[in-house]
Amino acid sequence: VVAIGMGLMGLTSGSQPLTTKKIAVLMFKPRNYGTEWVDRTAVRSAVWTDSASASKFYQEESFGKWTLEGAIERDGDVFGWYSIPFDDDGTCVSPQWRSWARMEAAKEGFDEARYDAVIFVSAATGCAGRAWTSGRNVTVISGFTAPTIMHELGHAFGLPHARAWVCEDASGAKVSISSTCTASEYGDYAVMGATTSFHMNGFQKGALGFLKATNTTDVTASGVYALHSIERGTREAQVLRIPRTSDRDGNIRDYYYLELRQPYGFDAFAPTSPYVNGISIRVAPEYTDRGSPSYLLDTTTPAATGFGDAPLKLGATFTDADRRVNITAMSISGGVAQVRVDFF
Ligand SMILES: [Zn+2]
Repeated sequence: VVAIGMGLMGLTSGSQPLTTKKIAVLMFKPRNYGTEWVDRTAVRSAVWTDSASASKFYQEESFGKWTLEGAIERDGDVFGWYSIPFDDDGTCVSPQWRSWARMEAAKEGFDEARYDAVIFVSAATGCAGRAWTSGRNVTVISGFTAPTIMHELGHAFGLPHARAWVCEDASGAKVSISSTCTASEYGDYAVMGATTSFHMNGFQKGALGFLKATNTTDVTASGVYALHSIERGTREAQVLRIPRTSDRDGNIRDYYYLELRQPYGFDAFAPTSPYVNGISIRVAPEYTDRGSPSYLLDTTTPAATGFGDAPLKLGATFTDADRRVNITAMSISGGVAQVRVDFF
């Protein structure tokens, strides 16, 4: 008995608890419109089984903490196609269609309460987009791709878009930061922005609980700080945060989030890409404020180019004259950046 007990302890100690997110796909179409435009094999591949699937993405993205499964089958639960007894009437997918599809799927074992998210695949006219999410319900009417599923599931897990900030100075010229910034809704290159399959940004990883306490360094004193790349699990700092603005009571309202990207796995950047040769700077609140957007800043020639060169280049300095801070990207070597922060 003692030996068995010790053996079990040996198995469990040191291994991360794995969170299994249960996902179902329900496919249905109105009787008078559309085609069965994606098949079960393609769906299963994109969500669960392919090496570039949403499941593999969340495994890498969460440092092995999360994986996607079905509630019935590990490699995914797919129901349909069902032809439902309603006509497309130009007002997009209706609640009645979904209810009918749920009823049909229930005959095959679908139990909605067992799922963290349900992906409805349909065909309809009059929709504002091709994929959207409301609560834990994702709907896709065309383009069932792995990046689309990664992005929409991010919403189902509680995240908004990763935005960018386009800022102007008093004369109307574009600058990296000012008090006059407008949001570019999909402006971040990360998955919750431009619907790429690039990793979530550090704020959103923290918001979903993927980061350890030791992965974040709050910087309040001038100095040189090491910053490890965001893609691989480590105990070292992967996010440097500088408190940026506070409310009247002195509570921190938002931070500068500093992050290093390197070419690895789903972050399949070219070695020459600006995204892996500089420090990405964003503005975002506390991790606990999961429903708030993050804002990527364009730290390189914002007046002349777009966000393709947003990260702070090696040797360059980002200055916030109001916050009285300089941030300098000093070096990147072996997946670790050295960043100098000077409060003045
Ligand atoms: Zn979205």
